[in-house]
Amino acid sequence: MEHTVKKGGISVQTEHIFPVIKKWLYSEKDIFLREIVSNASDAVTKLKRLASLGQYDDGDETYRIEVSLDKDAKTLTVSDNGIGMTAEELDRYICQIALSGALEFVEKYEGENKSNGIIGHFGLGFYSSFMVSDTVELITKSYTDTQAVRWVCNTDGAYETSIGERPEHGTTVIMHISEEESAYLEESKIREILEKYCAFMPVEVYFTNETDEHDTKEEDTPKPINDTTPLWLKNPSDCTPEEYKEFYRKVFHDWREPLFWIHVNADYPLNFRGILYFPKITNEYESIEGQVKLYYNQVFVADNIKEVIPEYLLMLKGVLDCPELPLNVSRSYLQNNTYVSKVSAHIVKKVADKLNSLCNTAREDYEKVWDDVSTFVEYACMRDRKFYDRVNPSLLLKLTDGTYTTTADYLEKAKEKHENTVYYTSDKATQAQYISMFEAQEIAVAVFERQLDTQFLSILESYNSDVKYVRIDADLAGALKSDAVAVEDQALSDLFRQVSGEEKLKVSFTSLKDTSVPLLLTISEESRRMEEMMKMYSMAGMGTVGAFPTEATLTVNTASPLIEKLSAMDGEKREKTAAYLYRLALLSQRKLTAEELTQFLQDSYSIVDLI
Ligand code: ADP
Repeated sequence: MEHTVKKGGISVQTEHIFPVIKKWLYSEKDIFLREIVSNASDAVTKLKRLASLGQYDDGDETYRIEVSLDKDAKTLTVSDNGIGMTAEELDRYICQIALSGALEFVEKYEGENKSNGIIGHFGLGFYSSFMVSDTVELITKSYTDTQAVRWVCNTDGAYETSIGERPEHGTTVIMHISEEESAYLEESKIREILEKYCAFMPVEVYFTNETDEHDTKEEDTPKPINDTTPLWLKNPSDCTPEEYKEFYRKVFHDWREPLFWIHVNADYPLNFRGILYFPKITNEYESIEGQVKLYYNQVFVADNIKEVIPEYLLMLKGVLDCPELPLNVSRSYLQNNTYVSKVSAHIVKKVADKLNSLCNTAREDYEKVWDDVSTFVEYACMRDRKFYDRVNPSLLLKLTDGTYTTTADYLEKAKEKHENTVYYTSDKATQAQYISMFEAQEIAVAVFERQLDTQFLSILESYNSDVKYVRIDADLAGALKSDAVAVEDQALSDLFRQVSGEEKLKVSFTSLKDTSVPLLLTISEESRRMEEMMKMYSMAGMGTVGAFPTEATLTVNTASPLIEKLSAMDGEKREKTAAYLYRLALLSQRKLTAEELTQFLQDSYSIVDLI
């Protein structure tokens, strides 16, 4: 047989491509295998398409991709029985198109840094094999049954084409792994990469280790490393809850069951699919960073791509397959891409729809998961007004008695007693006194105990200024007051100001229905929120316990028999009693400082002494 050898070289202007590919993207080198295996997968898909069009008879052929490692020969080989290439095709696709594609890619992104540059390095293609190889060998035979061709290229850019040996159509890429990249000759490394990038590729991928000393226990029937028909491709109505849960366990290695999930199946023109899971978040301090895996035609691209998925949805876990995404462009391009924003808006709508449908049709289940999803929902509402507008009717208030209600129902029920105000507690323990007063008047109290809640409530008010959120110790609701007229007592005001040590303390007189409480401290909602914000921003949360709230008002309950008694007292007894009652009021509002506590204990002992 006559051997025609074609020699070539990568032209002058392309000279620097190999060193660049080799040195660059160091931590992301793993993607070379994804590129080579997905080329193999594309080659099979193309041949299958020809078969389905009747242009090729594939009889009972089984399509497969084989990845094999040979540590002795220092090679990693990817072989497919796909469409293959003729000598002309090889020249055109590999030596011209692929090369110019890789060149363009390198030129465009050479200076970009990894985090804000490109996503998943799509577009580098076949030549990414040179990131880890000294020499790459390609043997291919077209399905048209022409002579097989062999192409060998080293990192100097010199290549050689000759007649190849290959009985079956398809392509074999043999990567001669370079000395520095010998990590890619480890089975565990290759398995890890295949597992990450190829787990859902549409053609079966088999892995074998052919290294001599490798003690292979030949399996009877080797299993592919991938699942060629991932759950997201199925019709949602054909999927069982068990399948969703199993998929979740498999992909996220999370032993806790997801709370619920959303299977998105958007047709033309968006054309993307995915499954998003609401994971169980047990407390707000647990890391609530989720994981949304992005795929491109069943090929893994990257996790948590902020440019495609609204940042607050990244608290969820899930998979998204977007074959239409322009991934060979920069991140900044994606940020302003209308297709991307439509995908994002569609996902947001689906998530909101799911919450609404649960609230409307499975209220009991919804209430059960509310504590777990509320962190996410609140955060999402804060970040996105549109999301809030959609889920607003399904936002639940958790009440102090453990029940749940919507804001609309809460306000409707409270109508007779107070209007457009949601009373809430931020700490059931320290505000117990106030809670019991509200409960005695049958005014429901909502619980907002999380750190973010103050901000959340301010944002809710900015979205809808008709509803106010007032902490129970901020304002004595009208319903707590009795009809009796409270008479101001200047002497008592002066006395309290004196014993409190706060010259500017505001004192007001009110007759409350609850006669058991003599004094109450209230701090206006606005000034307390302001203070909380300041604390958060200055990060001076420590050591401020007990700092006197600027806008505190001392309310004297004129209906209290204790106050009546106090008015009648004189001398030391009067002063001590007033101080004592004042400390009790402080105590029911916040923790005492060390100094205040010492004083309080002394007061208590002298009161005992008076008995
Ligand atoms: P892309 O896959 O994005 O087109 P590549 O550089 O990876 O870019 O590949 C260039 C071309 O080389 C492919 O479009 C295809 O025509 C051809 N090719 C690469 N690998 C194979 C293969 N395993 N079988 C058949 N053709 C291939």
